[in-house]
Amino acid sequence: MPAELGLKRKGCMFCGTELRHTFVDLGMSPLCESYVSSEQLNQMEPFYPLHVFVCENCFLVQLEEYVSPENIFTEYAYFSSYSDSWLQHMRLYSDKIVDRLRLNSQSFVVEVGSNDGYLLQNFVAKGIPVLGIEPAANIAKIAVEKGIHTLIEFFSEKLARQLAEEGRRADLIAGANVLAQVPNVNDFVEGIKILLKPRGVVTIEFPHLMRLMEENQFDTVYHEHFSYFSFLTVEKIFAAHGLTLFDVEEIPTHGGSLRIYGCHKGEVSYPVGARVTELRAREERLGFTRLGHYFSFAEKVRETKWKLLEFLIKAKREGKSIAGYGAPGKGNTLLNYCGIRTDFIDYTVDRNPYKQGKFLPGTHIPIFPPNKIKETKPDFVLILPWNFKDEIMSQMSHIREWGGHFVVPIPEVTVYP
Ligand SMILES: [Zn+2]
Repeated sequence: MPAELGLKRKGCMFCGTELRHTFVDLGMSPLCESYVSSEQLNQMEPFYPLHVFVCENCFLVQLEEYVSPENIFTEYAYFSSYSDSWLQHMRLYSDKIVDRLRLNSQSFVVEVGSNDGYLLQNFVAKGIPVLGIEPAANIAKIAVEKGIHTLIEFFSEKLARQLAEEGRRADLIAGANVLAQVPNVNDFVEGIKILLKPRGVVTIEFPHLMRLMEENQFDTVYHEHFSYFSFLTVEKIFAAHGLTLFDVEEIPTHGGSLRIYGCHKGEVSYPVGARVTELRAREERLGFTRLGHYFSFAEKVRETKWKLLEFLIKAKREGKSIAGYGAPGKGNTLLNYCGIRTDFIDYTVDRNPYKQGKFLPGTHIPIFPPNKIKETKPDFVLILPWNFKDEIMSQMSHIREWGGHFVVPIPEVTVYP
Protein backbone atom coordinates (compact mmCIF):
# COMPACT_ATOMS: atom_id res chain seq x y z
CA MET A 1 0.00 0.00 0.00
CA PRO A 2 1.32 3.50 -0.84
CA ALA A 3 0.19 4.74 2.60
CA GLU A 4 2.52 2.21 4.19
CA LEU A 5 5.40 3.70 2.23
CA GLY A 6 4.84 7.02 3.93
CA LEU A 7 4.24 5.64 7.40
CA LYS A 8 7.11 6.68 9.67
CA ARG A 9 5.99 5.11 12.93
CA LYS A 10 3.77 2.22 13.89
CA GLY A 11 2.14 1.82 17.25
CA CYS A 12 1.37 4.29 20.02
CA MET A 13 3.77 7.22 20.20
CA PHE A 14 4.02 6.90 23.98
CA CYS A 15 3.68 3.22 24.88
CA GLY A 16 4.14 1.39 21.56
CA THR A 17 0.85 -0.53 21.68
CA GLU A 18 -0.57 -1.32 18.24
CA LEU A 19 -3.18 1.29 17.24
CA ARG A 20 -6.46 -0.46 16.38
CA HIS A 21 -9.19 1.99 17.36
CA THR A 22 -10.35 4.98 15.33
CA PHE A 23 -11.10 8.21 17.17
CA VAL A 24 -12.13 10.08 14.01
CA ASP A 25 -11.31 9.67 10.33
CA LEU A 26 -11.35 12.97 8.41
CA GLY A 27 -10.27 11.42 5.12
CA MET A 28 -7.38 12.69 3.01
CA SER A 29 -6.07 16.23 3.46
CA PRO A 30 -3.09 18.30 2.32
CA LEU A 31 -0.68 19.73 4.90
CA CYS A 32 -2.70 22.55 6.36
CA GLU A 33 0.07 25.15 6.29
CA SER A 34 1.15 24.45 2.70
CA TYR A 35 -0.37 27.54 1.11
CA VAL A 36 -0.39 27.36 -2.67
CA SER A 37 1.08 30.11 -4.87
CA SER A 38 -0.50 31.01 -8.20
CA GLU A 39 2.36 29.24 -10.06
CA GLN A 40 1.58 26.02 -8.18
CA LEU A 41 -2.17 26.06 -8.81
CA ASN A 42 -2.13 23.47 -11.58
CA GLN A 43 0.39 21.15 -9.99
CA MET A 44 -0.18 17.99 -7.98
CA GLU A 45 -0.65 18.44 -4.28
CA PRO A 46 0.14 15.66 -1.80
CA PHE A 47 -2.75 14.55 0.42
CA TYR A 48 -2.23 12.42 3.53
CA PRO A 49 -4.67 10.56 5.78
CA LEU A 50 -6.15 12.52 8.68
CA HIS A 51 -7.05 9.39 10.56
CA VAL A 52 -6.88 9.78 14.33
CA PHE A 53 -6.49 6.75 16.60
CA VAL A 54 -6.87 6.24 20.33
CA CYS A 55 -4.47 3.89 22.13
CA GLU A 56 -6.32 1.21 24.07
CA ASN A 57 -3.54 1.07 26.66
CA CYS A 58 -2.67 4.69 27.55
CA PHE A 59 -5.60 6.51 25.80
CA LEU A 60 -3.27 8.83 23.92
CA VAL A 61 -5.26 10.18 20.96
CA GLN A 62 -2.88 10.49 18.02
CA LEU A 63 -2.26 10.59 14.31
CA GLU A 64 0.05 8.11 12.73
CA GLU A 65 3.10 9.88 11.37
CA TYR A 66 3.06 10.16 7.57
CA VAL A 67 4.96 13.36 7.14
CA SER A 68 8.23 13.99 8.89
CA PRO A 69 8.42 17.19 10.95
CA GLU A 70 11.33 18.38 8.82
CA ASN A 71 8.87 18.70 5.93
CA ILE A 72 6.35 20.60 8.00
CA PHE A 73 8.19 22.92 10.30
CA THR A 74 11.36 24.13 8.62
CA GLU A 75 9.47 26.83 6.68
CA TYR A 76 6.27 27.65 8.48
CA ALA A 77 3.61 30.25 7.86
CA TYR A 78 2.37 30.65 11.41
CA PHE A 79 3.60 33.84 13.02
CA SER A 80 2.39 34.09 16.60
CA SER A 81 2.55 37.86 16.68
CA TYR A 82 -0.31 38.33 14.21
CA SER A 83 -2.91 37.81 16.91
CA ASP A 84 -3.46 40.56 19.48
CA SER A 85 -5.25 38.36 22.00
CA TRP A 86 -2.52 35.72 21.85
CA LEU A 87 0.16 38.35 22.53
CA GLN A 88 -1.86 39.61 25.46
CA HIS A 89 -2.31 36.08 26.80
CA MET A 90 1.44 35.44 26.77
CA ARG A 91 2.23 38.83 28.33
CA LEU A 92 -0.03 37.99 31.28
CA TYR A 93 1.55 34.55 31.60
CA SER A 94 5.07 36.02 31.71
CA ASP A 95 4.10 38.50 34.45
CA LYS A 96 2.54 35.73 36.52
CA ILE A 97 5.32 33.19 36.19
CA VAL A 98 8.08 35.75 36.89
CA ASP A 99 6.31 36.53 40.18
CA ARG A 100 5.54 32.95 41.08
CA LEU A 101 9.08 31.64 40.49
CA ARG A 102 10.78 34.93 41.47
CA LEU A 103 12.76 35.00 38.24
CA ASN A 104 15.46 37.66 37.90
CA SER A 105 18.62 38.55 35.98
CA GLN A 106 20.33 35.43 37.39
CA SER A 107 17.62 33.10 36.05
CA PHE A 108 17.52 31.33 32.71
CA VAL A 109 14.33 30.86 30.70
CA VAL A 110 14.12 28.51 27.72
CA GLU A 111 11.18 28.41 25.38
CA VAL A 112 10.68 25.39 23.18
CA GLY A 113 8.96 26.33 19.93
CA SER A 114 9.69 30.01 20.50
CA ASN A 115 8.25 31.09 17.13
CA ASP A 116 8.92 34.80 16.43
CA GLY A 117 9.83 35.61 20.03
CA TYR A 118 6.26 36.61 20.95
CA LEU A 119 6.70 35.23 24.51
CA LEU A 120 10.40 35.61 25.24
CA GLN A 121 10.39 39.33 24.39
CA ASN A 122 8.47 39.82 27.67
CA PHE A 123 11.27 38.19 29.68
CA VAL A 124 13.95 40.12 27.78
CA ALA A 125 12.13 43.35 28.69
CA LYS A 126 12.44 42.36 32.37
CA GLY A 127 16.18 41.69 32.01
CA ILE A 128 15.84 37.91 32.35
CA PRO A 129 18.23 35.84 30.17
CA VAL A 130 16.44 33.68 27.61
CA LEU A 131 17.01 31.13 24.91
CA GLY A 132 14.48 30.31 22.22
CA ILE A 133 14.47 27.01 20.35
CA GLU A 134 12.65 27.17 17.02
CA PRO A 135 13.11 24.91 13.98
CA ALA A 136 11.45 27.19 11.40
CA ALA A 137 14.32 29.33 10.14
CA ASN A 138 12.10 32.00 8.53
CA ILE A 139 10.34 32.61 11.85
CA ALA A 140 13.39 32.28 14.11
CA LYS A 141 15.05 34.99 12.03
CA ILE A 142 12.44 37.50 13.16
CA ALA A 143 13.09 36.63 16.81
CA VAL A 144 16.84 37.10 16.31
CA GLU A 145 16.21 40.50 14.72
CA LYS A 146 14.29 41.45 17.88
CA GLY A 147 17.39 40.58 19.91
CA ILE A 148 16.13 37.23 21.22
CA HIS A 149 18.82 34.59 21.35
CA THR A 150 17.37 31.69 19.31
CA LEU A 151 18.68 28.30 18.22
CA ILE A 152 17.27 27.13 14.89
CA GLU A 153 16.74 23.51 15.86
CA PHE A 154 14.21 20.89 16.87
CA PHE A 155 14.14 20.37 20.61
CA SER A 156 15.25 16.87 21.51
CA GLU A 157 16.88 14.82 24.23
CA LYS A 158 20.16 15.23 22.36
CA LEU A 159 19.95 19.03 22.26
CA ALA A 160 18.92 19.15 25.94
CA ARG A 161 21.92 17.02 26.87
CA GLN A 162 24.22 19.31 24.93
CA LEU A 163 22.85 22.44 26.63
CA ALA A 164 23.03 20.80 30.07
CA GLU A 165 26.66 19.87 29.45
CA GLU A 166 27.37 23.51 28.61
CA GLY A 167 25.91 24.41 32.02
CA ARG A 168 22.79 25.96 30.50
CA ARG A 169 20.03 24.25 32.45
CA ALA A 170 16.83 26.22 32.88
CA ASP A 171 14.90 27.67 35.82
CA LEU A 172 11.87 27.81 33.58
CA ILE A 173 11.12 25.85 30.43
CA ALA A 174 8.05 27.14 28.65
CA GLY A 175 6.22 25.67 25.70
CA ALA A 176 2.94 26.76 24.18
CA ASN A 177 1.38 24.78 21.37
CA VAL A 178 4.43 22.65 20.81
CA LEU A 179 3.69 19.39 22.65
CA ALA A 180 0.99 18.34 20.20
CA GLN A 181 3.40 18.97 17.31
CA VAL A 182 6.09 16.67 18.68
CA PRO A 183 6.53 13.42 16.70
CA ASN A 184 8.31 11.65 19.55
CA VAL A 185 6.80 12.66 22.86
CA ASN A 186 9.15 10.46 24.90
CA ASP A 187 12.24 12.11 23.44
CA PHE A 188 10.73 15.56 24.01
CA VAL A 189 9.73 15.03 27.66
CA GLU A 190 13.04 13.32 28.44
CA GLY A 191 14.74 16.43 27.00
CA ILE A 192 12.76 18.61 29.42
CA LYS A 193 13.81 16.39 32.32
CA ILE A 194 17.47 16.80 31.35
CA LEU A 195 17.34 20.55 30.70
CA LEU A 196 15.51 21.46 33.92
CA LYS A 197 17.50 22.64 36.96
CA PRO A 198 16.83 20.65 40.16
CA ARG A 199 14.28 23.23 41.33
CA GLY A 200 13.26 24.31 37.85
CA VAL A 201 9.70 24.41 36.57
CA VAL A 202 8.30 23.51 33.19
CA THR A 203 5.01 24.89 31.93
CA ILE A 204 3.40 23.52 28.81
CA GLU A 205 0.19 24.65 27.13
CA PHE A 206 -1.75 22.45 24.77
CA PRO A 207 -5.36 22.10 23.62
CA HIS A 208 -7.36 20.01 26.07
CA LEU A 209 -8.85 16.84 24.59
CA MET A 210 -11.84 17.18 26.90
CA ARG A 211 -12.78 20.51 25.32
CA LEU A 212 -11.99 19.28 21.83
CA MET A 213 -14.52 16.49 22.31
CA GLU A 214 -17.15 18.52 24.18
CA GLU A 215 -17.08 21.35 21.67
CA ASN A 216 -16.62 19.40 18.50
CA GLN A 217 -13.31 20.99 17.60
CA PHE A 218 -12.42 18.35 15.03
CA ASP A 219 -10.90 21.02 12.79
CA THR A 220 -7.99 21.31 15.22
CA VAL A 221 -6.91 17.91 13.90
CA TYR A 222 -4.19 18.34 11.32
CA HIS A 223 -0.98 16.66 10.28
CA GLU A 224 1.08 19.08 12.33
CA HIS A 225 -0.74 17.92 15.48
CA PHE A 226 0.39 14.41 16.19
CA SER A 227 -1.29 14.06 19.57
CA TYR A 228 -4.31 15.24 21.59
CA PHE A 229 -3.99 15.03 25.36
CA SER A 230 -6.23 14.54 28.33
CA PHE A 231 -4.72 15.57 31.65
CA LEU A 232 -4.63 11.92 32.73
CA THR A 233 -2.55 10.87 29.74
CA VAL A 234 -0.14 13.78 29.85
CA GLU A 235 0.40 13.17 33.56
CA LYS A 236 1.24 9.55 32.81
CA ILE A 237 3.76 10.58 30.13
CA PHE A 238 5.52 13.13 32.35
CA ALA A 239 5.60 10.65 35.27
CA ALA A 240 7.27 8.07 33.03
CA HIS A 241 10.14 10.57 32.65
CA GLY A 242 10.43 11.44 36.34
CA LEU A 243 8.44 14.67 36.22
CA THR A 244 5.50 15.45 38.52
CA LEU A 245 2.66 17.74 37.47
CA PHE A 246 1.96 19.86 40.54
CA ASP A 247 -0.48 22.37 39.08
CA VAL A 248 -2.77 22.79 36.12
CA GLU A 249 -4.82 25.67 34.79
CA GLU A 250 -7.71 25.49 32.36
CA ILE A 251 -7.27 28.43 30.01
CA PRO A 252 -9.45 29.68 27.14
CA THR A 253 -6.84 29.74 24.34
CA HIS A 254 -7.29 27.60 21.22
CA GLY A 255 -10.81 26.65 22.21
CA GLY A 256 -9.80 25.46 25.68
CA SER A 257 -6.28 24.50 26.69
CA LEU A 258 -4.45 23.20 29.72
CA ARG A 259 -1.36 24.82 31.14
CA ILE A 260 0.49 22.20 33.15
CA TYR A 261 3.22 22.93 35.69
CA GLY A 262 5.85 20.24 36.20
CA CYS A 263 8.91 19.75 38.38
CA HIS A 264 11.34 16.95 39.14
CA LYS A 265 9.70 14.08 40.99
CA GLY A 266 10.25 14.43 44.75
CA GLU A 267 10.96 18.19 44.60
CA VAL A 268 9.36 19.46 47.83
CA SER A 269 9.15 23.12 46.81
CA TYR A 270 6.08 22.39 44.72
CA PRO A 271 3.39 20.32 46.46
CA VAL A 272 0.69 18.90 44.20
CA GLY A 273 -2.26 21.32 44.24
CA ALA A 274 -6.00 20.83 44.45
CA ARG A 275 -6.52 21.69 40.78
CA VAL A 276 -4.57 18.59 39.81
CA THR A 277 -6.62 16.19 41.91
CA GLU A 278 -9.88 17.85 40.87
CA LEU A 279 -9.19 17.66 37.14
CA ARG A 280 -7.91 14.10 37.37
CA ALA A 281 -11.13 13.05 39.14
CA ARG A 282 -13.30 14.96 36.67
CA GLU A 283 -11.69 13.29 33.65
CA GLU A 284 -12.11 9.89 35.25
CA ARG A 285 -15.76 10.62 35.93
CA LEU A 286 -16.28 11.74 32.32
CA GLY A 287 -14.87 8.48 30.99
CA PHE A 288 -11.34 9.28 29.81
CA THR A 289 -10.08 5.97 31.20
CA ARG A 290 -12.65 3.97 29.20
CA LEU A 291 -12.16 3.24 25.51
CA GLY A 292 -15.90 3.50 24.76
CA HIS A 293 -15.89 7.19 25.70
CA TYR A 294 -13.69 7.99 22.71
CA PHE A 295 -15.98 6.30 20.20
CA SER A 296 -18.79 8.87 20.54
CA PHE A 297 -16.84 11.61 18.81
CA ALA A 298 -16.87 10.52 15.16
CA GLU A 299 -20.67 10.59 14.91
CA LYS A 300 -20.79 14.14 16.28
CA VAL A 301 -18.24 15.24 13.69
CA ARG A 302 -20.32 13.92 10.78
CA GLU A 303 -23.38 15.71 12.14
CA THR A 304 -21.44 19.01 12.30
CA LYS A 305 -20.39 18.64 8.66
CA TRP A 306 -23.96 18.00 7.50
CA LYS A 307 -25.30 21.02 9.39
CA LEU A 308 -22.64 23.34 7.98
CA LEU A 309 -23.29 22.12 4.43
CA GLU A 310 -27.04 22.53 4.91
CA PHE A 311 -26.49 26.15 5.91
CA LEU A 312 -24.14 26.88 3.00
CA ILE A 313 -26.37 25.22 0.40
CA LYS A 314 -29.42 27.14 1.62
CA ALA A 315 -27.49 30.44 1.54
CA LYS A 316 -26.26 29.80 -2.01
CA ARG A 317 -29.76 28.80 -3.22
CA GLU A 318 -30.99 32.14 -1.87
CA GLY A 319 -28.33 33.89 -3.94
CA LYS A 320 -26.22 35.04 -0.98
CA SER A 321 -22.48 35.69 -1.17
CA ILE A 322 -20.11 34.21 1.38
CA ALA A 323 -16.52 35.20 2.20
CA GLY A 324 -14.20 33.59 4.69
CA TYR A 325 -12.25 35.32 7.42
CA GLY A 326 -8.84 33.92 8.26
CA ALA A 327 -6.65 31.23 6.75
CA PRO A 328 -5.70 29.18 9.80
CA GLY A 329 -4.67 25.53 9.77
CA LYS A 330 -7.98 24.58 11.34
CA GLY A 331 -9.86 26.24 8.48
CA ASN A 332 -8.09 23.98 6.03
CA THR A 333 -9.10 20.83 7.88
CA LEU A 334 -12.69 22.03 8.03
CA LEU A 335 -12.92 23.06 4.37
CA ASN A 336 -11.20 19.95 3.02
CA TYR A 337 -13.19 17.56 5.19
CA CYS A 338 -16.47 19.25 4.28
CA GLY A 339 -15.58 19.72 0.58
CA ILE A 340 -16.10 23.50 0.67
CA ARG A 341 -14.40 25.33 -2.20
CA THR A 342 -15.09 28.46 -4.24
CA ASP A 343 -18.49 26.99 -5.06
CA PHE A 344 -19.47 28.19 -1.58
CA ILE A 345 -16.84 30.68 -0.46
CA ASP A 346 -15.62 33.30 -2.96
CA TYR A 347 -12.41 34.06 -1.08
CA THR A 348 -10.98 34.42 2.40
CA VAL A 349 -8.89 37.18 3.99
CA ASP A 350 -5.98 37.13 6.42
CA ARG A 351 -3.91 39.76 8.21
CA ASN A 352 -0.74 37.76 7.67
CA PRO A 353 1.00 39.15 4.53
CA TYR A 354 2.78 35.79 4.09
CA LYS A 355 -0.56 34.21 3.21
CA GLN A 356 -2.03 37.05 1.13
CA GLY A 357 -1.98 36.38 -2.62
CA LYS A 358 -1.78 32.65 -2.00
CA PHE A 359 -4.49 29.97 -2.05
CA LEU A 360 -5.70 27.62 0.66
CA PRO A 361 -4.21 24.12 0.37
CA GLY A 362 -6.54 21.60 -1.23
CA THR A 363 -9.54 23.88 -1.70
CA HIS A 364 -7.61 26.62 -3.57
CA ILE A 365 -9.76 29.40 -2.11
CA PRO A 366 -7.84 32.68 -2.73
CA ILE A 367 -6.52 34.70 0.24
CA PHE A 368 -6.74 38.51 0.20
CA PRO A 369 -5.95 41.28 2.72
CA PRO A 370 -8.89 42.03 5.09
CA ASN A 371 -10.02 45.20 3.24
CA LYS A 372 -11.32 42.97 0.41
CA ILE A 373 -14.40 42.39 2.57
CA LYS A 374 -15.23 46.10 2.58
CA GLU A 375 -14.88 46.19 -1.22
CA THR A 376 -17.16 43.22 -1.99
CA LYS A 377 -19.69 43.49 0.89
CA PRO A 378 -20.53 39.79 1.28
CA ASP A 379 -23.81 38.71 2.92
CA PHE A 380 -21.99 36.26 5.21
CA VAL A 381 -18.47 36.16 6.65
CA LEU A 382 -17.52 32.66 7.78
CA ILE A 383 -15.01 32.95 10.62
CA LEU A 384 -12.50 30.11 10.30
CA PRO A 385 -10.33 30.85 13.39
CA TRP A 386 -13.38 30.56 15.67
CA ASN A 387 -11.12 30.77 18.74
CA PHE A 388 -10.66 34.46 17.85
CA LYS A 389 -14.29 35.10 16.94
CA ASP A 390 -14.89 37.89 19.48
CA GLU A 391 -11.76 39.75 18.41
CA ILE A 392 -12.66 39.36 14.72
CA MET A 393 -16.33 40.34 15.12
CA SER A 394 -15.33 43.55 16.87
CA GLN A 395 -12.58 44.39 14.31
CA MET A 396 -14.95 43.70 11.42
CA SER A 397 -18.17 45.06 12.94
CA HIS A 398 -18.59 47.37 9.89
CA ILE A 399 -20.00 44.44 7.87
CA ARG A 400 -23.31 45.22 9.61
CA GLU A 401 -23.46 48.52 7.67
CA TRP A 402 -24.48 46.56 4.57
CA GLY A 403 -26.45 43.90 6.47
CA GLY A 404 -23.64 41.34 6.59
CA HIS A 405 -23.66 38.57 9.17
CA PHE A 406 -20.91 36.58 10.84
CA VAL A 407 -21.11 32.80 10.75
CA VAL A 408 -19.10 30.58 13.10
CA PRO A 409 -18.90 26.88 12.09
CA ILE A 410 -17.80 25.27 15.39
CA PRO A 411 -19.14 23.74 17.69
CA GLU A 412 -22.02 23.94 15.25
CA VAL A 413 -22.94 26.46 12.61
CA THR A 414 -24.15 29.69 14.27
CA VAL A 415 -25.20 32.91 12.52
CA TYR A 416 -24.66 36.14 14.49
CA PRO A 417 -27.21 38.90 13.92
ZN1 LIG B 1 -0.35 4.08 24.22
